[in-house]
Amino acid sequence: MPDWLPQETVALRDRVTTLAHDVLVPLRDDSSLDPGDRAARIREASKQAGVFSMAQPEEFGGGATLLELTVVRDTLGAHNVCHLPGIFGPGPGVLGGVGEPLRSRYLAPVLAGEKRGAFGFTEPDDAERPTSARLDGGTLTVNGQKSYVTGGADADFINVLVEVEGRGPAMVVIDREAPGVDVVRTFGSVDGSRHAYMEFRDVRVPETHIIGRPGEGLPRAMRQIGDTRLAMAAESVGLARWVIDFVTEHIAKPHRSGTPLAAREGVRLRYADMRIRAYAARSMVYRTARLGDAGENIINEGIASKVFATEAVGEIVDTGIQLVGGAALRSGHPLEELYRRVRSLRLAEGASDILRLNLARGRLDLAKGRI
Ligand SMILES: Cc1cc2nc3c(=O)[nH]c(=O)nc-3n(C[C@H](O)[C@H](O)[C@H](O)COP(=O)(O)OP(=O)(O)OC[C@H]3O[C@@H](n4cnc5c(N)ncnc54)[C@H](O)[C@@H]3O)c2cc1C
Repeated sequence: MPDWLPQETVALRDRVTTLAHDVLVPLRDDSSLDPGDRAARIREASKQAGVFSMAQPEEFGGGATLLELTVVRDTLGAHNVCHLPGIFGPGPGVLGGVGEPLRSRYLAPVLAGEKRGAFGFTEPDDAERPTSARLDGGTLTVNGQKSYVTGGADADFINVLVEVEGRGPAMVVIDREAPGVDVVRTFGSVDGSRHAYMEFRDVRVPETHIIGRPGEGLPRAMRQIGDTRLAMAAESVGLARWVIDFVTEHIAKPHRSGTPLAAREGVRLRYADMRIRAYAARSMVYRTARLGDAGENIINEGIASKVFATEAVGEIVDTGIQLVGGAALRSGHPLEELYRRVRSLRLAEGASDILRLNLARGRLDLAKGRI
């Protein structure tokens, strides 16, 4: 328990613990299951437990607080099931709060699971110029490229950050099948996810596909990334707990040296460090969620939580592997799998050092922020 929780949040945590323990862990471990069937069964169980729509907007049955979402993600992480598809219904992403026609054409179908969007933000290193658009007679003409669009090849549309000439950055909804949109190549990353490198050549998009107003693109994209960062931090602190439980059990077992590893002082020092880091990360994430629920601006706290928690879980998994030994590096071992999965967290949704620079800039150049 990071600190006291309201009674109904404790009940939520207990419900998610039962869901994870009784349903999600067995489904994760059943390798005979078809991935589609597994996701369908997870979806059903998650709906029954009242988790599925929690991260969706209130009008669509969701509207959970940051603290509730943190508790759920932490609990799922603590069972090493937070990565399973189907637990959460699709979120609105940058489409949150849009009006017509985007609401009926994209937001509602996304939340109903009928359409899937992807997020086009990152530019390749060798781009001659960032993705840009000319606005003429109610039509945008978009040219450019995005290098790391997760799920981009299978998405129905991409929310693309575009520099609109003379107006500033905007998030623009572009259908993947629109003429001029080209999925140049797809690739996988170490965590198991799939991405696309996409080009946009004279893609014509109605002006009504701009989310919000031109010039609002960056704050909108950053808000979406901000929510995702806190989610990643909450999962990281849960995963850290899972690793520590795994290691606790391992070092207490008999060891070929004749003494359980837990009896050795050197092992205890490493073990205590894991617990200290996990405690610090968890405290930070819960405090940030509470501040956010109280209506505070948590940009810096969100950055701090994402950097600290993702780096902490990286170190904790690494130490866990060291203490368990070579067996933990065998392909298919849960620590080996987790090692790959958590590595991407320090880059996705903001590389750690870039976030550090943002935080420093807020205080040194803008005199903003509490931390
Ligand atoms: C699993 C995964 C999923 C992703 N999904 C998406 C997605 O859906 N959509 C999307 O748009 N992107 C996505 N990305 C891309 C991700 O946002 C970028 O990888 C991340 O923002 C870093 O950008 P970059 O890779 O271009 O590295 P760079 O920006 O080149 O940075 C590389 C490193 O250089 C250093 N560095 C860079 N700039 C500075 C500086 N100014 N000062 C000091 N040091 C610096 C830092 O150490 C940094 O880690 C995903 C990435 C991963 C790993």
